[in-house]
Amino acid sequence: MNKDLKKYAEKRDPDVTPEPGGDDAPHINEDDHVFVIQKHDAQNLHYDFRLNIDGTLVSWAVPKGLSTEANNKRLAIRTEDHPLDYAEFEGVIPDDQYGGGTVMIWDKGAYSPLAHNDDEDGEKDGEKDKTMREALDDGALKFALNGEKLKGGYAMARIQDDDEDEQWVIFKLDDEHADARRNPVSTEPESVKTGRSMDEIEVDEK
Ligand code: MN
Repeated sequence: MNKDLKKYAEKRDPDVTPEPGGDDAPHINEDDHVFVIQKHDAQNLHYDFRLNIDGTLVSWAVPKGLSTEANNKRLAIRTEDHPLDYAEFEGVIPDDQYGGGTVMIWDKGAYSPLAHNDDEDGEKDGEKDKTMREALDDGALKFALNGEKLKGGYAMARIQDDDEDEQWVIFKLDDEHADARRNPVSTEPESVKTGRSMDEIEVDEK
């Protein structure tokens, strides 16, 4: 097992939770730039935002979900890396398990990294561009989402990095997909995988 996934495995009992185990062959290619946003009705409702970086889903919990309004910053708390197959998971985690509650695939698609070395004028400074992993380590990410609900450029910035507690913000970049009038978190609540509501997933999978 990838060592990035040690924390993931420690928190879960594979005999009890229906979540992917992390040691099966993933159905998603390691190099595919996929993202997923999972609506998760745990102790507190939140949206888990996950990006495949080098074969692992790097993950954040976003309490309010992502905004489509340019520069509207949403808090994103870094959580443990998840296995790639988790991008396909929709179901119910038993209440006595870590993260117990209903999980919905709220949005999903491909992303493309945007240039991380832009200087103030928006020109590349001539250096080789950072990889997503380097940009993650440096605490500043830029990418374009091509989901069903969310599209266009987003940026993330790390605002706090204590031992166990990494806080970031995520916000929409000002491009043709920025739209202050849309509010998909409220107006498009269903699963992009199955069209189900949270209640329907709970009834079906429990
Ligand atoms: Mn969660």
